[in-house]
Amino acid sequence: MQKALFLDRDGVINHETGYLHRIADVRWIDGIFSLARTATELGYQLVVVTNQAGIARGLYTEADFETLMDWMRAEFAAQGAPLAAVYYSPYHPTHGIGDYKRDHEDRKPNPGMLLRAARDLNLDLTASILVGDRCSDIAAANAAGLRAAFLLTGTEPNPCPHPHQTISTLADLELWLRNQPND
Ligand SMILES: [Mg+2]
Repeated sequence: MQKALFLDRDGVINHETGYLHRIADVRWIDGIFSLARTATELGYQLVVVTNQAGIARGLYTEADFETLMDWMRAEFAAQGAPLAAVYYSPYHPTHGIGDYKRDHEDRKPNPGMLLRAARDLNLDLTASILVGDRCSDIAAANAAGLRAAFLLTGTEPNPCPHPHQTISTLADLELWLRNQPND
């Protein structure tokens, strides 16, 4: 079985700009490619798990999202850290339009995307970790039974209720990874 580093997207890979959907608006978070390379070297599959309420709200389409993520996949590959998979939830329980107006097991804090990735990629979730910037990311990681969940500080105004470790930069997580005994 493989292990994964689950990456939230907005606020972890790219700066949150509010319903990002244009390549031109992408600004990378400091240290994301170095973290991704180190995780890859250490045998982690890189898996993006992202709520995309902007699709639910009709601000952009699933095709727009896929176009942006195709470009992002190429950027990660060019940096020596290819993404193994990208999962997204296009739903919102109150602001969604049409079929997108619903809660869904995939929408974080629910763990559906992580559980699906585990099946698709033969992942050992108890050896896998997640980094996010929202308590909903941490909750999904806990619900999926991950080894550890890391909260990048600066987004959430209040402490998250589920167990996690806080990091102030992605370099902190890269250091944590390097300090783990080899298994
Ligand atoms: Mg986020």
